[in-house]
Amino acid sequence: MAVVMVGSMAFDTIHTPTASRERVLGGACVYASIACSYFDRTHIVGVVGDDFKDENLKVLKDHKIDIGGVKRMAGKSFFWEGRYNADMKTRDTIKTELNVFEQFDPVMPESFKYVPYLFLANIDPDLQLKVLNSMQKLKFSMVDTMNLWISIKKEKLTEVFSKVDCVVLNDEEIRLFTGKDNILQGAKEIQAIGPRYVIIKKGEHGAALAAPGSYFSLPSYPVDSVVDPTGAGDSFGGAFIGYLSKANKTDVTSLKKAVAYGNTVASFTVEDFSVDRLKNLTRRDIDKRMKKIKKMVRF
Ligand code: AMP
Repeated sequence: MAVVMVGSMAFDTIHTPTASRERVLGGACVYASIACSYFDRTHIVGVVGDDFKDENLKVLKDHKIDIGGVKRMAGKSFFWEGRYNADMKTRDTIKTELNVFEQFDPVMPESFKYVPYLFLANIDPDLQLKVLNSMQKLKFSMVDTMNLWISIKKEKLTEVFSKVDCVVLNDEEIRLFTGKDNILQGAKEIQAIGPRYVIIKKGEHGAALAAPGSYFSLPSYPVDSVVDPTGAGDSFGGAFIGYLSKANKTDVTSLKKAVAYGNTVASFTVEDFSVDRLKNLTRRDIDKRMKKIKKMVRF
């Protein structure tokens, strides 16, 4: 099958307690699409400025990602700057410059509308809804978001949630959206809006899947040194949907396996800055680490 994804394409400046990187390639759609490309055909919709160089697009082209839905506009690309705390988990946003992303109006190439798998990465829920409504043959759709949209566009976001199969959130976002401290109760409240599945991303503690009548939880792969956690969640989402698309299965057993692949690919992403580790993987590397995870959790 194939996947369409929509989201930010960016330059990030990242500070960790021990190092910084200026204006490196980032954005939810960039991380997610590279992760997805290790599994299946990936088509992306996004916007970049005229500062987005051919070499940046080449990273995507090298992974055979279809950039037919990427619009180049006059002006600067989306820019985000963040600083990680000593725990290498929590972070402060120092700067968000929307630039051309402010005028982002996702226009889907005609052929994209018939792709069966959709990942709506973190963008304005109004735009997520527009994309969702333009899809003609969806088999599985999932959505990610962030605290900003939960705070200022909750009603629209709720409408998006009601129309997708799967919602991917981190534990804090579930608490913010539902007001529930108990994550399982929060996930159930979201399921009641419509999506069959809720995935709870828990950073270094892995991820969980709430499905009708079942709950599945998997730890993350323990990496020796986390260099830059940026994009781990997006890589998780990309690998998750890429696996489902390739298998062309959306039953709960396949979703559990997809969670494991999501964890595996995200564990590579955090081993270096930007997409530096993620972009240099092979499917063999991923499968090898996946086997180690399997061994790790078997008892
Ligand atoms: P993650 O670490 O998975 O939350 O993803 C971080 C990526 O999201 C970075 O590469 C940023 O460029 C991108 N990002 C940060 N803020 C926003 C935002 N407001 N809208 C869309 N993408 C964002």
